[in-house]
Formats: sequence, structure tokens, C-alpha cells
Amino acid sequence: MPMATIIDGKAIAQTIRKEIADEVRSLSQNYNKVPGLAVVIVGTRKDSQSYVSMKRKACAEVGIRSVDIDLPEQISEEEVIAKVHELNENPDVHGILVQLPLPKHISEEKVLSEISIEKDVDGFHPLNIGKLAMKGREPLFQPCTPKGCLELLIRSGISIKGKNAVVVGRSNIVGLPVSLLLLKADATVTIVHSHTSNPESIIREADIIIAAAGQPKMIKGGWLKSGAAVIDVGTNAVDDPTRKSGYRLVGDVDFEEANKVAGWLTPVPGGVGPMTVAMLLKNTLDGAKRKFTQ
Ligand code: NAP
Repeated sequence: MPMATIIDGKAIAQTIRKEIADEVRSLSQNYNKVPGLAVVIVGTRKDSQSYVSMKRKACAEVGIRSVDIDLPEQISEEEVIAKVHELNENPDVHGILVQLPLPKHISEEKVLSEISIEKDVDGFHPLNIGKLAMKGREPLFQPCTPKGCLELLIRSGISIKGKNAVVVGRSNIVGLPVSLLLLKADATVTIVHSHTSNPESIIREADIIIAAAGQPKMIKGGWLKSGAAVIDVGTNAVDDPTRKSGYRLVGDVDFEEANKVAGWLTPVPGGVGPMTVAMLLKNTLDGAKRKFTQ
């Protein structure tokens, strides 16, 4: 039974982090300054807190200065926006990340649009997304998870140009921007969403599949073209009484089945996940480099 090449996102992310650490070191030698990332969290959501502490730790590991902004749950929208404006003006901050979701009384759209596009390391500002969508334009930053997906393909030697790519999902944070990135890389892109009829037949034509639907094991082995490259963004918690935690994480792709058909496959966890943080560090480094060399 043929087996897919498993793309080790953890190892690739580690290599990228090492490259970033080397660049940060040489920047600080040449300019006597280090890149700075402001990580803003509002409230005490457990999952958000663990993502934020992971990001802050990752900064420290590569020598990026993390500016920690912890705001109370009851803070007003105006106060959050005022904090964003203050960070926009701070010359030691080269990237601003506002951890989502924000409490219900604060508009994420309003807050994210206030981040200077020059510090929009998450790449979610409408101007950066707009430039991503336009031919001949380049955004200052590309969104981290989508950029991580492309990086996994490129570093695994998978060619994108002229290939049929199918993206499952069209969210603002993954599906849509990853489709735009694939289009920029000259793939022929089809997007499957919850209203698509017969997704199997579309996915079966794909040389490259990016699965980002948030539906555990939705994509079966029989839906895949033999030898396809499968990047599984899905991170779904399913019950598992054999685990101490009571759950385990699975992707949107049935890994065991896909492993017998696909040419390349990312695991969950250990595929796209570690790349998201690595790309955040890379965007911060790039933002700082732009400033230092101005
Ligand atoms: P989302 O906002 O819920 O969007 C899901 C998308 O999938 C929507 O466009 C939806 O279509 C589509 N969809 C849902 N069910 C479908 C079905 N049965 N068939 C076809 N399309 C379907 O989710 P998201 O934020 O993009 O995240 C997607 C997954 O990626 C989640 O599991 C999330 O945890 C994971 N994720 C991982 C990372 C990472 O770093 N590893 C980062 C972000 C997200 P409609 O638009 O028609 O509703």
C-alpha cells in the first residue's frame, strides 16, 4: 500500500525559527535595534491566553521583543482603539497582533481596521487583503496561516504553478486568503464551501488540496486524486475517553485513508499549526527590516 510523504510542519517551522533568530541577531548587530511585536489580549479566555503565551514565548526564543498588552474584559471599544493608536505610534513596535475573538461588545472589524497597515502582521487589514486580491499589487503582510500553508508546499518541493488547487472553506482568516495566495502563485483555484454541490467530484480533480472547513475527517481517501498534496488546516477537538484530557485533535481530512492515496500529507497536530506562529515571527521580522532600512 503506497504511503504519502508526511510533511513535518513542526520541523519546518523549527528551521524557519532558526533562520529568523539568525536574522534578528544580525539586525541587532547592524542597527543596534531588535524587532518588537505587541501582542494584545482582551479578557481571560483560556484558549486565547494559551495562544498568546505561546506567541510571546516564541518571540523570546528568536530574540524578538514582545510588548505585552493585557486588557480587562470590560474595557470599552474606544479604549482598545486608543491602545492600538498608541502602538501604531510606538517606534519600538513593528507588529501589532490583537488576539481574536474579542469580547462581544467590541467590534473586531473596527479594531483590526485601526491597526496601521505597516504593522498589520496578521495581514487581516482590508487594505492588505485587497492588495493580496489584486493582480500586480503586493500586500505588506500576508496572513500567517495561509502563508504557512504555501511555505509548507514550497519547502516540500511541491510545484504550484499551473496546478489544480482546491480550497475547502472561504473564511476571512484561512480559506479566502489561501485561495488568493495560490492564485498569485499561478495555480488554478476552486473554492468549495458549505453550499457547494458534490464537493467530492471537485476535490478529486485537485493536485493540491487545502482543507479549512473545521469539519472532522470530512475529506475521505476516496475523494482524493492519487499523488495529491494535501494540507490539512482543520483543527477539531473530538471526544476521546482514552485520553486524560477526554479529547484529541483531528483534521478535516481522514488521515489514515488519505495516507494511502495522497502524495504528500500534513498531520494534525504538527502540520500547519506550528507554521502559523513561525509566519507571525517572519512577518514581524520583515516589518522591522522595512523600518530599519528606510
Ligand atoms: P470558519 O470560519 O468556521 O470557516 C469554515 C469554512 O468552511 C466556511 O467557509 C464554511 O462555508 C466552510 N464549510 C463548513 N462546512 C463545510 C462543508 N461541510 N463542506 C464545505 N465547506 C464547509 O473556520 P476557519 O476559522 O476558517 O477555520 C477552519 C479550520 O481551520 C478550523 O478547524 C480551525 O480550527 C482551523 N484553523 C487552524 C489554524 C492553525 O493555525 N492550524 C488557524 C486557523 C484555523 P460557508 O462559508 O459556506 O459557511
